[in-house]
Order: sequence, then structure tokens, then C-alpha cells
Amino acid sequence: MPSPLSRAALVLGCSTALLAQDQPGPGYTDTPMLPTGWHVHDAMRPRPVAVDPGPAPAAPIPAPKDAIVLFDGKNLDAFTGRDDKAQWRIEGGFAAVNRTGDIQTRAEFGDCQLHVEWATPSPAKGESQGRGNSGIFFFGRYEVQVLDSFENPTYADGQAAALYGQTPPLVNACRPPGEWQTYDIVFRAPRFADDGAVREPARITVIHNGILVHHDQAYMGPTAHRSLPKYVKHAAKGPIRLQDHGDPVRYRNIWIRELDLDRPELVRQGTKK
Ligand code: MG
Repeated sequence: MPSPLSRAALVLGCSTALLAQDQPGPGYTDTPMLPTGWHVHDAMRPRPVAVDPGPAPAAPIPAPKDAIVLFDGKNLDAFTGRDDKAQWRIEGGFAAVNRTGDIQTRAEFGDCQLHVEWATPSPAKGESQGRGNSGIFFFGRYEVQVLDSFENPTYADGQAAALYGQTPPLVNACRPPGEWQTYDIVFRAPRFADDGAVREPARITVIHNGILVHHDQAYMGPTAHRSLPKYVKHAAKGPIRLQDHGDPVRYRNIWIRELDLDRPELVRQGTKK
């Protein structure tokens, strides 16, 4: 039987837990309103439920034979960066962000299937957006967030696998810091009319550590911080950019399959006929 004092502490503890989702967490309440009725980076937006995805793969997942291998652990020749060279540190079969700036593919892609493996620093350092932050930007514009979201509360549209500033993942499938994680992504490029109007928004399906976290989800526009996304017409293909947010996030085993989701039969062996 708890003493009156510890019973009071228990009650207090319970009410704190019950109220946790109703209290402003990291995030904002003074940012513009998205069409979904939530502020951009809304501190009150419910955070996705955590789901344990099981153990990390023991080794990189082999690329299919028709994939274009962008990074196999040996060199970043397929990427460019500061002074026309991707300068992230390569060590032990992975590349680590090292504050030399973002890197992006030399080749450009439209519709595609992308596989990426990543790991956030261990032991974890920092909190919220300051812990293991990086990102994958299609067309250099449309981000799938990379973040250490393992027991690290942040605003829902900023956590790992979020379409940053727009749409949280369906669940939080993050593994602990230091463990390898996978993204398997199908990206459909936006379609624009000649006058620049958006005929079809960019759409994305994301599987994080084997768990579906976005299904054919539309982007509201290019990724923006604390502001509303707004489409601006661009070319049919663009680079894939990896973000240097200052945290030493690691990447390995990056491969891509080009697609034409209007006419998938036209793409073979990574070469459009
Ligand atoms: Mg990021």
C-alpha cells in the first residue's frame, strides 16, 4: 500500500502521462496552417505511435540486378558536393556526414524506387531536431526526414520518415541510435502544365524498416521550414540530395531503379528506351 505521499505522486504521475499528448511539445503554434488543419511543425499534433520493427539487417540488403548503385560503401563518385566533390568521410563501408555540406547525385531522376540505409550517431547527442538530423530530398526539394526518432520527441511533421513540415509517418518505426535502418521509397515526380500549374503533385510511398509509413501520399509542395510549401515548376528530372544538418549520420547501400509510372514498360535495366 503506498503511503499518502507516494499515492499523491502516483496520481500526479498518471495525470502527467494522460496529458502528455495535450501539452505543447517541441514545435510551434505560431506558424501558418496547413490544409490538414495543423500548423506547420505543430507542437500539438499527435506524434505517431512507436512500433518496434525488429532487429536490424545483419548486412546491407543486396541491390536488384537492374538497379543503379549510387553508393556501395567504397566511393561517392556518383555524388557531387562542395567544390564539385562529395566530401563526406568514407569508412568501413559507410559514408558519414562531416559538415562539408549537402551532397547530391550527379545523375538526375524522375519517378523512381530508392533504397537507402542509414544510422544515427550512438550514443545519441542532442534532442528534438538536434539529434541525428539529415534528410533525403528528391529533386533536391522534396524531403523524407532522417532523424533519430527513437525516444526523442519532436514535432510530428519533423520526425524520422516525415514529409518534413507537411505529413508525419503513419507510425514511428525508428530503431535505436547506431543501428542500421532502411528506407524503401517509391517516388512519383510532380507533373506540371506548360503554364506552370500543378497537374499532379509529387507522390510518395515509404517503407521504413519494413513498415509502411506513407502510402501514395501527396506532397503539398517543396519542403519548407516554418512556412507553407508552394510548388514551382521544374524539370522532369532532378538530383537526389542528402542533407548535412551537422550531425554525423551514416549512410550505406544506396541504390535506385528508374521508373516511368505513367508507362512502366518503357524502363528496362535502368535505361529508358
Ligand atoms: Mg532533415
